[in-house]
Amino acid sequence: MKKAAWILGDQLSLNNSALRVLDKATDMVVMTESLEHARELSHHKHKLMLCFSAMRHFKQELEQQGYSVCYSQLDENKNFLDSLNSIVRKHGVSELIVMQPNESATVKFVETLSENLGIAVAQSKNTMFLTDRDEFVKKHRGKSHLVMENYYRQMRKTHNVLMTKDGKPVGGEWNLDKENRRTAKAFKQSKLTPPKRPAPTRDRIDSDVAAMVEKFFPNNIGSTKTFWLPTTRKDADLFFDDFIATRLKDFGDYEDVMIADELVLFHSAISPLLNIGLLDVMTLARKAEHAYYNGDAPLNSVEGFIRQIIGWREFIYGCYWTKSADTDYHQENFFGNTRKLPDFFWTGKTNMRCVSSAISKVIEHGYTHHIERLMVIGNFALLAGILPNEINRWFWEFYADAYDWVVTPNVMGMSQFADGGFVATKPYAASANYIDKMSDYCHGCAYDKTLKTGETACPFNYLYWDFFLRNDEKLRKNNRIGMAYVTLDKKTTAEQDAIRQSAHSFLANLNPNDYY
Ligand code: FAD
Ligand code: SF4
Repeated sequence: MKKAAWILGDQLSLNNSALRVLDKATDMVVMTESLEHARELSHHKHKLMLCFSAMRHFKQELEQQGYSVCYSQLDENKNFLDSLNSIVRKHGVSELIVMQPNESATVKFVETLSENLGIAVAQSKNTMFLTDRDEFVKKHRGKSHLVMENYYRQMRKTHNVLMTKDGKPVGGEWNLDKENRRTAKAFKQSKLTPPKRPAPTRDRIDSDVAAMVEKFFPNNIGSTKTFWLPTTRKDADLFFDDFIATRLKDFGDYEDVMIADELVLFHSAISPLLNIGLLDVMTLARKAEHAYYNGDAPLNSVEGFIRQIIGWREFIYGCYWTKSADTDYHQENFFGNTRKLPDFFWTGKTNMRCVSSAISKVIEHGYTHHIERLMVIGNFALLAGILPNEINRWFWEFYADAYDWVVTPNVMGMSQFADGGFVATKPYAASANYIDKMSDYCHGCAYDKTLKTGETACPFNYLYWDFFLRNDEKLRKNNRIGMAYVTLDKKTTAEQDAIRQSAHSFLANLNPNDYY
């Protein structure tokens, strides 16, 4: 009886639990590239390069560890099922083991495999997350709103991260978020220069994959020439260690700052690597914790970073599976939005400097940091009333770290409030005030950040109030945003009409007739 472990492209971890049941002497590992799967969405070229190159490097790594690996390279005529079928027949495989997939469409596919291949197919426990998703779903299913902070504290306790011997949070407080909000002005005054990231090594595998991506995906967004991510575990480790050594200390202070000429600032930029298993979440958390104990980084930075990876990331994963247990998350649309995405989402060509710069960064690098995703691009889509599934798909296609389990709850939930508040307590809506405080975008923008209405006024200003006006029935009763309505109610009817008028003419010119 010959077993095979099928390693999925986003589970390239040596801790992949499907490997554990193999006998290296007799069993084998199967890895498959699929053109059909890779073309289901029009992914950024950097994401395709990262995934295919990391898969091919992982094959080498497994072979060095003594596994026998059967690898099926991308071929125009084969999909996953065809590749698996021919491997199973050729090698006489009688049982296939797959680690529980990270996202629901793949789970559904794996569930059909036993019947389609005519052999036993088992799913082993997912080891890429600290969260046991079945337990999470069982505990939270049916709730209308989940709270990240509660889950984060539980994770800190369970895994003993930044905890004192008597079970208290190190430093006395669980969450130092209020110390993570220094402004763009403070950043400029600090005269800090964000360090350069280490350049990853490149080899024949990388150049072959680049040529393949250009051949099979010529019209996808991005360019293989500007690819900047590591593709091996060794380089991924160096990439993260460099973050700990050079950027973590300033991460906390400037976490929310956005600078037009800076892509990563003091962020880690590890999400593309972590999400495919090149990095391991607990190893990262321990390294960050040690940096604090060694005096290499302050607590607001270390706690802030740990909150992101064992708090937010794990919570988002749990939210995705809880929501997916009962509904199709992609179809949620709390505000009933209908507008299509404007063309500038594909070019970055708009006079709104903040939006143009953030979109251009994504086009070039398949990455922006969190605040540009949430408070510029997501914020604009929310205020403009874009159909949530449309902006979700855009994020999914344009970012190198985007996978259904993480992009969908972040976009549909946190950013667009399309789930009516399952992930976020209130919509992340902001006017030019916030963007100006946290960035250097407004200086040099064609629009005037101080004007509230009219042709030259910043669109975020009138769209912000128009958003609350048009969603009055749905939002006024939310006590987290009551203050917005207190201010709105003080505006005269003429002022409210001017807001509606400015919003109407801006949106009408966005892309005329683009409604579903
Ligand atoms: P850092 O700021 O250095 O944070 C460290 C790590 O914490 C990240 O690498 C990530 O693994 C984790 N993390 C932090 N916040 C979140 C979060 N909200 N959800 C999940 N993990 C988190 N993250 C993705 O991995 N893939 C996505 O497709 C994605 N889409 C997003 C879309 C929107 C609209 C928003 C608001 C957020 C999205 N995020 C996504 C979450 C977050 O923005 C990115 O994880 C982060 O910006 C990645 O950059 P970084 O590695 O430099 O993060
Ligand atoms: Fe963005 Fe408005 Fe500032 Fe221009 S003025 S950069 S559109 S917030």
